[in-house]
Formats: sequence, C-alpha cells, structure tokens
Amino acid sequence: MKNPTYSIVVPAYNEEECLPYFFEKVIPLFEKTGEEFEIIIVNDGSKDRTEEIIKEQCEKDSRITGISFSRNFGQQAAFLAGLKEAKGQAVIAMDADLQDPPEVALQMIEKWKEGFDIVHGRRKSRPKESFFKKATARLYYKFLHRISYAKVPENVGDFKLYSRKAVDAIISLPEHDRLLRAQAAWVGFKQTFIDFDRPAREIGETKYTLKKMVKLASDGIISNSDYPLTLALKSGILLSVLSLACFITFIVLAATGVMTDLLPWLFPTIGALFGWNLTVKGLSDIYTARIYNEVKNRPVYIIKEKFHAEREDNTPDRKRSFFSLKK
Ligand code: UDP
Ligand code: MG
Repeated sequence: MKNPTYSIVVPAYNEEECLPYFFEKVIPLFEKTGEEFEIIIVNDGSKDRTEEIIKEQCEKDSRITGISFSRNFGQQAAFLAGLKEAKGQAVIAMDADLQDPPEVALQMIEKWKEGFDIVHGRRKSRPKESFFKKATARLYYKFLHRISYAKVPENVGDFKLYSRKAVDAIISLPEHDRLLRAQAAWVGFKQTFIDFDRPAREIGETKYTLKKMVKLASDGIISNSDYPLTLALKSGILLSVLSLACFITFIVLAATGVMTDLLPWLFPTIGALFGWNLTVKGLSDIYTARIYNEVKNRPVYIIKEKFHAEREDNTPDRKRSFFSLKK
C-alpha cells in the first residue's frame, strides 16, 4: 500500500468511553472522501481500557496504528508522536472526544486542496464550557498573541490540518517544551482558518486538570516569548526613576518641615523592592530551568509499544519497524 493521502492524529488519555464513538464517526466519514487514509491514535499512558480498545481496533483495521506511551507525557507529546508517525500528504490533528467535529476536517481538506499548508480550526463559540475556562482562555490567548515571536492566532486550539511540508517543518523543531499551536504559527507557510462552534464534551470528562492547563499556558509563553525577561529591565528602570523621585520628595518634605519621620516608610519600601527583586529573579530562573531541561536533552516521550495489523501489500516505503499484530 502506498502512503495514504490523509493521516488523522489523535491523542487519547483515559478515553475508553469516547473511542468507540470516535471510530464509528470518523472512519465512515473519511471513507466517503474516496482517498486512502490512516488513523494514528496515541495512548498517553491511560489507566483505563483505552489501550485495549486501540489494540482491538488495530487488529480489525489495518488503517489504524496505535502508539502507547510508557506513562502520561501530555497531549502535546502525544500529538508530536502522532505527527512523526504520520505518512499522509495532509495530516489532521484532532481530539478523541469529538469536540473537534470531524465534518470540519473535510472543510479543512478543501482548503488544503486550494493550496493552504496549515488550516486552523477557530472556535467561534464554546457553549457549556465554564465561565472560568472561557475567560482565562480568552485573556491568555490575547496576551500570548501580543507577546509571542510569531503571532499565535486567538481562539485556536490543536485542531488543524497540516500539509506534509508543514508537518516536516514542525517535527524538525528540536525543543522539548512544546505548544503545537505556537509552533504552527511560527513555521509559516500559507495558513488559513475554518470557523466552527465547539460543542461541549458529550462523553467522559475533561482530562485537563488545572495543573496541566497552567503547565501548557506557561510552556506557551516561555517557549515563544522573551517578554517576561524584558519585564526585569523595564521594571528596574521604572523603579529607579520612582525611587529617585521619592528621594527628592522626601528631602523637600524634610527640608520644609512637613514630614520629619521617614522611618515608617523604610520597611515597607525595602519589603516591596525585595519582593519585586525575587519575583523578577524567579522569572529569569524559569528560563534557566528551561535551558537546563533542553540541555538534558531527554526525549519528549517514551514509546512502550506500537500496534499495527500487517497490511497485505506492506511495501517498504511505509517503513513500519514496530511490532505488528498478526491477523
Ligand atoms: N489528552 C492527552 N493527554 C493528557 C490530557 C489529554 O492525550 O494528559 C487528550 C485527551 O484524551 C483528548 C485531548 O487530549 O483527546 C483533549 O483533552 P480534553 O478533551 O480533556 O481537553 P479539553 O477539550 O477539555 O480542553
Ligand atoms: Mg475535549
């Protein structure tokens, strides 16, 4: 079998409830395109039956490839593993919970056929998501858009189509802490958007804990902007000017006899400056920690096992070197 036209890359963490619906919906939809396709499901260290379900599906259908991580490495790592495995000319990245409507992928394909290399799914509305999630996401993406090297588009997640050229560019980026949506903006090429209404999750619960969301958000900022570092310089200059102004004011007040006791001002001022110093140092330490992480050069994920049923005409160009399920 020659390389497929489309690859669908899907991260899955504890998605035993969603996966059967996912296959049921996505497979017939892509069959209708009349083109060859493959689905790459990355099991991100799930603790439920996700792995068994993927394995069973791989046994039934040679168009599906399963990758299991040795533990939970996160959605971004799972997407990366899927992008590396994908052989398609166009690669569609989507979540397993059907919150990224598969029909929208067909609209993305139309854009790809028009010559676009990256087609972002842009969320027009997110009904039923909590006020907290919507508000923090809006603020965060506005901020990231302002400070990132390449402007990360607003209201855009990881639901995207990438051309082969774009995938090759993204997987060639060597950094460890990744925010795929920022990398997609950074690699350039011809990009466009498809607007869609993001439905609520019908099955199961979100796998994004607050801790994971904060990690994703800070990775996005730190890997894509040096703005926090420039804060130190800007605030240092501002504080120096302010303290000079205070110094002059105090001398004038003392000289005119309006205020003679400056001592009560001393401790809060020292405290504030010391606090600010530590804050700014902490910010630059975060960057140092990132450099340390990059220097260690550990892999972004570890693959425990891969599942893939042997194809009848398994030609060498697919270069699948992993354990194959015998039919
Ligand atoms: N996911 C993952 N690893 C994780 C968390 C999530 O692979 O550590 C997957 C999850 O199975 C789903 C996608 O990433 O396919 C998006 O997760 P979720 O739906 O929980 O996020 P939300 O839509 O609530 O932002
Ligand atoms: Mg979801």
